[in-house]
Amino acid sequence: MKIGLICGQEINELINDSEEIIVETNYGNTLINFKKLENNDVFFINRHGENKKIPPHNINYRANIQALKSCNIENIISIFTVGSMKKTILTGDFVIPNDFIDFTKSRCLTYFENDRVHIDMNNPFCPSLRKLLIESCKIVDDKKIHNRGVYLTTEGPRLETSSEINLFSNYADIVGMTLVPEIILAREQNMCYAALCVVSNMAAGLQNELKTDEISKTFIDKKPVIINLIKKSIKNMENKKKCKCNKK
Ligand SMILES: [Zn+2]
Repeated sequence: MKIGLICGQEINELINDSEEIIVETNYGNTLINFKKLENNDVFFINRHGENKKIPPHNINYRANIQALKSCNIENIISIFTVGSMKKTILTGDFVIPNDFIDFTKSRCLTYFENDRVHIDMNNPFCPSLRKLLIESCKIVDDKKIHNRGVYLTTEGPRLETSSEINLFSNYADIVGMTLVPEIILAREQNMCYAALCVVSNMAAGLQNELKTDEISKTFIDKKPVIINLIKKSIKNMENKKKCKCNKK
């Protein structure tokens, strides 16, 4: 099976000895690292680009998703670092979100700029792929897993104010800058999409000043578990139940 893997952080341990492919799309080129993993074909993209320096509001989301689509990928597992807006969700925890809220402001959110196409968003995350991720979390036995959660996407690149977090936390659980429009574009392409969110910090008002390296430090600390979890998910992909994501 062909699986897309998108991440914003380095997971070189997972893509060592991979083959680099440049995929041309209508929106620009995307670098994909291809590798056989657990008997599946894995196509890895760092969403921040080849040099990993593109900020969230400038990421070429449309090229990234179209590149995976043109490789005939049906399932995408996307990995994020997020802030927690809830005292019950702590740094180092995992969240498998079931819904999202879009607070972005200036991004291209669609492939259908000139068509009247309105994609259904009742189930933005693939229920079957979410279940598979949740099952993998149980196997790796990391106790801090939240099976549901609402991911609110901000425009960034600045972090949120305490008052914003106070407002957002009434409606969402975790906050980050990169889920939207990635998930919307995957839905527009009828692909199965699920997210593994690693809580790297508590949001404004719930902890003292956030230092940028704190975000990557938590990810690095959790990396062995994340890699184990992704490998289990890839290995179990053949057990994924049927879903309706590929129906228009
Ligand atoms: Zn699906």
